[in-house]
Amino acid sequence: MLKGKNALVTGSTSGIGLAIARTLAKAGANVTLNGLGDPAETEKLRRTFESEFRVEAAFSPADMTKPAEIAAMIAEAEKRFGSLDILVNNAGIQHVAPIDEFPPERWDAVIAINLSSAFHATRAAVPGMKKRKWGRIINIASAHGLVASAQKVAYVAAKHGIVGVTKSVAVELANDGITCNAICPGWVLTALVQKQIETRAKTSGKSVKEEEIGLLAEKQPMHEFTTPESIAELALFLCGDAARTITGASYTIDGGWTAA
Ligand code: NAD
Repeated sequence: MLKGKNALVTGSTSGIGLAIARTLAKAGANVTLNGLGDPAETEKLRRTFESEFRVEAAFSPADMTKPAEIAAMIAEAEKRFGSLDILVNNAGIQHVAPIDEFPPERWDAVIAINLSSAFHATRAAVPGMKKRKWGRIINIASAHGLVASAQKVAYVAAKHGIVGVTKSVAVELANDGITCNAICPGWVLTALVQKQIETRAKTSGKSVKEEEIGLLAEKQPMHEFTTPESIAELALFLCGDAARTITGASYTIDGGWTAA
């Protein structure tokens, strides 16, 4: 389905980004991977993509807090593969603290990685997409792009922001063959959430398993984690021809979180 297309997924060394990159590669796209990680491990990951999916894979260590590195990553991906057709803005971090104790440098980091990096990557990727009259931009937002939770002020602000960016880019590029959509997952059991569950267990004295169930039940009518692979299938659908008029949308995949 994606043979001949070239994709870039930010934050694809683990979790949701890795699953999306694997699914796009399985569908035939060449991929540029990105994220934090030990160089030997990221090289191993890159090679796995090439051997497992028979596509070309590159790795960029660009830091999503650094606009110049983001622009260079996009330019390098276009040079390496001849085009950048699919951009998935996925990299993200979390910080949980009450507003009056929220460290300003954590605010800056969450906004930079979860919101500003998508702006910098999109603005660098759009000229090539416009020229070729084809592009898919997918922003990994969150249920927190639509509703709030306590103690997550930076994350909620960044995710609401990325939903706004998605709509604005979609409207602006509506007749350029480029779509821009957001995916808003509920709880997904990745490193980002595991850390929150472990902190809860330490504070409450309950087991990690009990806190897993507690975390789900607090927010989701459906007491089940969404898998990274399900989110990746939704991203793949948004890259396909059937989705060519879907733009500016925010797709929830959240076990009913935002419906309740
Ligand atoms: P994760 O921690 O497994 O993955 C985060 C990725 O971002 C990693 O590859 C990491 O290396 C990369 N990253 C972090 N800081 C970076 C930086 N400065 N520069 C480059 N890369 C950086 O987390 P995840 O749960 O897979 O999260 C992926 C996205 O999904 C995030 O945007 C997150 O907000 C969103 N999301 C997650 C959940 C969930 O429940 N896990 C729910 C909704 C939305």
